[in-house]
Amino acid sequence: MKLFFRGHDEKYAVEQTMLTLFPAERPLYPEEAPGGDNELELSFSRGGIWSTATAKLRREGKTFTRQCRVKTQELNSDDPVVVTRLTRRTLQRAFYMAAIDCLGTEPPWGMLSGVRPVKLPTKAMLEGATPAQAEAELRDRYRVSPDRRKLAMACAKASFSLKKSLGEDEVSLYVGIPFCPTRCAYCSFISSSGSANKLIPAYLEGLFREIDAAGANLLASGKTVRTVYIGGGTPTTLDAHQLRALLERINTAFQLKPGTEFTVEAGRPDTITREKLEAIRAGGGNRISVNPQTMSDTVLEAIGRSHRAGDIQNAFRLARETQVGAINMDLIAGLPADTVEGFRDTLDQVIAMDPENITVHTLALKKGARLRQEEVVLPTGEDVARMLAYAWQALEAAGYQPYYLYRQKFMSGSFENVGWCKPGYVNEYNICMMEELHTVLSLGAGGVTKNVGGGTVQRMANPKYPQEYIKTIQDIVEEKTAWSW
Ligand code: SF4
Repeated sequence: MKLFFRGHDEKYAVEQTMLTLFPAERPLYPEEAPGGDNELELSFSRGGIWSTATAKLRREGKTFTRQCRVKTQELNSDDPVVVTRLTRRTLQRAFYMAAIDCLGTEPPWGMLSGVRPVKLPTKAMLEGATPAQAEAELRDRYRVSPDRRKLAMACAKASFSLKKSLGEDEVSLYVGIPFCPTRCAYCSFISSSGSANKLIPAYLEGLFREIDAAGANLLASGKTVRTVYIGGGTPTTLDAHQLRALLERINTAFQLKPGTEFTVEAGRPDTITREKLEAIRAGGGNRISVNPQTMSDTVLEAIGRSHRAGDIQNAFRLARETQVGAINMDLIAGLPADTVEGFRDTLDQVIAMDPENITVHTLALKKGARLRQEEVVLPTGEDVARMLAYAWQALEAAGYQPYYLYRQKFMSGSFENVGWCKPGYVNEYNICMMEELHTVLSLGAGGVTKNVGGGTVQRMANPKYPQEYIKTIQDIVEEKTAWSW
């Protein structure tokens, strides 16, 4: 879509709104004057009493015009953050209103374009708003639909009560294992597979050094670890001996309390063995993920997975037998070759297995995903909406409740990913990380440490790729040693 601005330069905010409303579009800033099709003219003018944003959206030969205004006096604030926020919001609203005139429908999350829609009501409640007031803001300012408000408020309440229980000296720990047996067709994650997995021994050597350095620093600063999450990739790509050594190293460096929430993503059933599950349990792991994504063999093949639905059932049984703890299962709505009926069948099978947590994702194809390059046919946004509606109803009926959610760019139908749990099985790490409730120390390739405090989030990123991580490990260790908490 061609974008023309006058009286402002709010590129990022306008592009985010465009991606939410027109996910297939990409922003263009042409030299020529406006007057063609598929373009937005967005201007901002200051008057004596009112300042006005005007959006003129031209699509398929029609022009949709909307104006929104803000009191000029409010823009005369001394605080530049306030001025920028008000200007941005007025521009986005004018564009949004013109776009819904054009589309004839509103997206489920209304004007909210960020990845963390729960942050707003949680923050409002922490600042003293009642749940009803927090929900009213989602309705009136951001035009969020009634069902998404319900979802957001359920998650905000879980987030609010967790925040109240967090100690000042507590942090969460993330350890990344960016290796997988093969690459799934929808994946854009920075993970290595196949021959790159030869790097695992050198990677672990570096990771152990980083764990030791970060652990010593954390201990010296008097911080304690509230939750641990080993993610990836697929951490169970490591063999049982490597997994045992990794968990032992974490226990030694960080001195975890007995019963600390400790999650290991087992992810792909083709990596799960009895020995690995026993190594996880022996190392204090008390939660794992066994992620089917689908229980249809046809869909598994379409997404490039080499295992069958029966392998997922076997992996789940093995996890129960070894009593490794609570089990999460991830599903994705909108996969290629899937149908509404197929997704329902997947969900019914997963609910019948009775895991403590089920996370329902919506397919999001980022750059780098093979499926995006191949331009395969996917279920429509309406079909994905039906899949998700069924998931809500079936999960609620089976006793699950939503506790955390997030959105991503390029998501089918502009929906969301939702974590559901049986009562008492909230995964605290997921909430802490997604809602930025407290500091998350992240180790390993691709790890981004977020130091949360004083209303700000300070970031420190490790290199993305394992090779780069191994090469620069000395610098990373020095950085983790010098980090001031
Ligand atoms: S298992 Fe997960 S991280 Fe690994 S390739 Fe598949 S989607 Fe990507």
